[in-house]
Amino acid sequence: MNIPDVYLGGDMKDIYCPVCGERIGVETEAYCDHVLFVYLDMIGEFIWSANPPQSQRIEDDEELETPDEKIKALLKEINSDSVLCVSFTTSGMACGPMSSTVYMAFDFCT
Ligand SMILES: [Zn+2]
Repeated sequence: MNIPDVYLGGDMKDIYCPVCGERIGVETEAYCDHVLFVYLDMIGEFIWSANPPQSQRIEDDEELETPDEKIKALLKEINSDSVLCVSFTTSGMACGPMSSTVYMAFDFCT
């Protein structure tokens, strides 16, 4: 299972829920019902989860080292055919080149 990555270039752009079309900003506080989780690799945290105890446990699991491993472990637990997980990557220059990836999962059957 691979998580498709969408490269957005220099700036994070608005993302729209593929199910209902609602605008999803990374800094939003409320997501539509279709968003299962949002994970920001730069801080290594789920900034949103529809099931906080589950995502917290994955986040704290030290056996899972990379964001990719954590996301795949969580998707495996959710184990649903109606879930689409996509990562969005931006890159730019701060104190040197940097890039940031946000993982989002959508449930098409919510
Ligand atoms: Zn939606």
